[in-house]
Amino acid sequence: MVIHILTPANRAGGRRRLHSGIVHCATANREGEGGVKALVKYASGNGNVAVMEVDEPVCREDQVKVEVAFCGVCGTDLHVLHDTFRNYPPVIMGHEFAGAVVEVGSGVTGVAQGDRVTVLGASTVTCGECSYCRSGNFVFCAARRGMGHGVNGAFARYVVARKDQLFRLPEGFSLAEAALSEPFAAAVQAVAEVTKVRIGDTALISGPGPIGLLCLKLLAAEGVKTIVAGAAGDSARLEAARRIGAAATVCTSERNLLEAVREETGGAGVDVAFECAGHPDSVRGCIEALRPLGRYTQVAICGREIPFPIDGVILKQLTVAGSLCYTVRTWERVMRIFAQGKVRLDDLISAKLPLSEWEAAFGLCVEKKALKVLLYPEA
Ligand SMILES: [Zn+2]
Ligand SMILES: [Zn+2]
Repeated sequence: MVIHILTPANRAGGRRRLHSGIVHCATANREGEGGVKALVKYASGNGNVAVMEVDEPVCREDQVKVEVAFCGVCGTDLHVLHDTFRNYPPVIMGHEFAGAVVEVGSGVTGVAQGDRVTVLGASTVTCGECSYCRSGNFVFCAARRGMGHGVNGAFARYVVARKDQLFRLPEGFSLAEAALSEPFAAAVQAVAEVTKVRIGDTALISGPGPIGLLCLKLLAAEGVKTIVAGAAGDSARLEAARRIGAAATVCTSERNLLEAVREETGGAGVDVAFECAGHPDSVRGCIEALRPLGRYTQVAICGREIPFPIDGVILKQLTVAGSLCYTVRTWERVMRIFAQGKVRLDDLISAKLPLSEWEAAFGLCVEKKALKVLLYPEA
């Protein structure tokens, strides 16, 4: 397959043809058609990311073309930038987005131009036949390639997707909020499906990054008492946690987490703990904070081997689980949660910047100055 990218340098002189292993979403190659700007990882290695002019994607008969309104910057994008997450350049980055349908393939029914949608980009390429695909756990398919690193993503004006990847947004739910559907789906799986938090539980979220705060959103909406812990440098995010419904926040560089948890739980410890920081201190803090028979869920990726206090697991007979991404059913649940109107996500959006300011947007995320930053396409 071929992707055509027009770099600023060769714009006047014609198209540079780049070959890649991309198996889907190759961009158009009709000569004479105007290009659109996109944020492209154009080669392997650290960096090698730029806004480039690419051909508009062609909508196949089994596809729908979506005009992107907003696409969120995610930790995965930072890893693709630094080449610490597998990627297949040249590829358009970005996978957390929402927009409006502008073209419907001739073989697609039940979707109309103007439909406001968000897209499950992670399932763009799967084998469809392995036991994981057949059981809805496509995330574990060995052939999987998701948008933004494996196939072209949404830091661009247009994206093409299959109908089964689309989720129609409820009335009144903004496209900016809906751009957070993908990370929110990860939070929903962790909280509601893997950990199965019950009304009356007390929860600990350790790590107030976007996923931690999205877990908090859901727990607070259900009335679950939630303590949020962070480290030095997380003060803005802990403040946000208080604003969006944390019963208490703990900065662990200033206060002992276990003491704070005992105070909040009458000495009992928390029923459930979500490790959302990927840091050894946070892992230990969660195990210590749990009551006997409590449930521990690993939500963050640590990216390295870290010590794990395994005796805490046996001595308190804890249940330890991991939660990675989501299933299609999780996304259906997300749309029902949105439709019920109890969860709004606007207050997690710190900034909306044009695509050309992607470096500033990525920087805000690295410096933990922002909660979520969205990019929008430019003409
Ligand atoms: Zn993401
Ligand atoms: Zn498969």
